[in-house]
Amino acid sequence: MPGFEVFGAEEKKEIMEVLDTGVLFRYEFAEQRNNIFKVREFEEKFAGYCGSGYGQAVTSGTAALKVAMAALGIGPGDEVITQGFTFVATWEAIFDVGAVPVFTEVDETLNMDPADLEKKITKKTKLIIPVHMLGAQARIKEILAVADRHSIPVLEDTAQAPGAKLGGKALGSFGVCGTFSFDAVKTITTGEGGMVITDDEHLWRRMSEYHDHGHDHVVNPGGRGGEGRDFIGFNYRMMEIQGAIGLAQLAKLDDIVAGQRRNKAAIKEAAAHIPGVTFRTILDEQGDSASFLGFFLPDAEAAARVNAILADNGAGAIPFGSNTWHFYPKWEHLLNGSTLARSGWPFQSGGGKRRVVYDADVLPQSAAIMDRLLVYPVPVNLTEERLRQITAALNRAVNY
Ligand SMILES: *Cc1c(COP(=O)(O)O)cnc(C)c1O
Repeated sequence: MPGFEVFGAEEKKEIMEVLDTGVLFRYEFAEQRNNIFKVREFEEKFAGYCGSGYGQAVTSGTAALKVAMAALGIGPGDEVITQGFTFVATWEAIFDVGAVPVFTEVDETLNMDPADLEKKITKKTKLIIPVHMLGAQARIKEILAVADRHSIPVLEDTAQAPGAKLGGKALGSFGVCGTFSFDAVKTITTGEGGMVITDDEHLWRRMSEYHDHGHDHVVNPGGRGGEGRDFIGFNYRMMEIQGAIGLAQLAKLDDIVAGQRRNKAAIKEAAAHIPGVTFRTILDEQGDSASFLGFFLPDAEAAARVNAILADNGAGAIPFGSNTWHFYPKWEHLLNGSTLARSGWPFQSGGGKRRVVYDADVLPQSAAIMDRLLVYPVPVNLTEERLRQITAALNRAVNY
């Protein structure tokens, strides 16, 4: 799964090129930097890898969502639809731009159910964020069809699926923009970091300026900020060292995916022997980045029994249905409306006149799917010994 498994000499060499110049900042300092612009190069190469025109590097995957939404003009009064199975970052970013997150059911792709999406659209819906969870495709074509019918843009949260494709086209390149994360446990990592890709030059320029305090990025004799600022911004700039690491990691992405695919196939083969087991729906096996293997048991009790046997044999899987980081009914701070703001924002505003309340029971279809689900993260470097242990555990589980 994570890029840290393949961290090595290539990353060190890239970092040293930056340290040798002493310029850690991504802009300016033309004379000192020997024409080394690692973040810019990472943006160009990452966007190119995804078949997109432009890349905007930022400090995290969460910042990527925020910067993209800001550039799309999302703000207070707007609703943004995402799915109830994702990492908390997706909806944190929606709140952070002042909008209200609305959650859809997932289906057996473990991603957004397009039929439920259509039901959740209101006059206030200004953006749809499907998430390509656990390394594989959301039903992005159906989602785009629904969105197009209502003229609503689609942002793909691709934090967990760099290197994944649908019909040969990179995930993240279907919607108006796609966001990525390079945090410490993602498929490629820069320690912390993120990226937005898009084909829309105007949107890209807005993201570029917003993430740099709103300074204009028009090339002019005054350089960055020489023309002033068209809107207020913030600081989400990536460091040169991160850009350097990203370049080395990106060069390894195809090998990472190939390794994951091999290892996933081996684990899947063993899991297939468990009576009643079925697998997560993968829309395009060729395009699966294979960073996770998801499988279902017939019911929640069976899943719990199987996982107890796996854990007893040193190979427990992740029961995402009870995982507090990724599934809606387990987000107690969201359900309780917990916030540091004394005013109650973002759950309350207008002196308590407007309240946003989240009910734990509104996603029954997702709960029924998640309760039966077990997931193995797929490592890149899987030793024969560990694979034997996982296989043996799965073989014991056939009599659950
Ligand atoms: C990791 C992740 C993010 C946030 O990325 P960070 O770089 O950790 O801020 C957003 N969405 C999803 C689905 C993620 O898994």
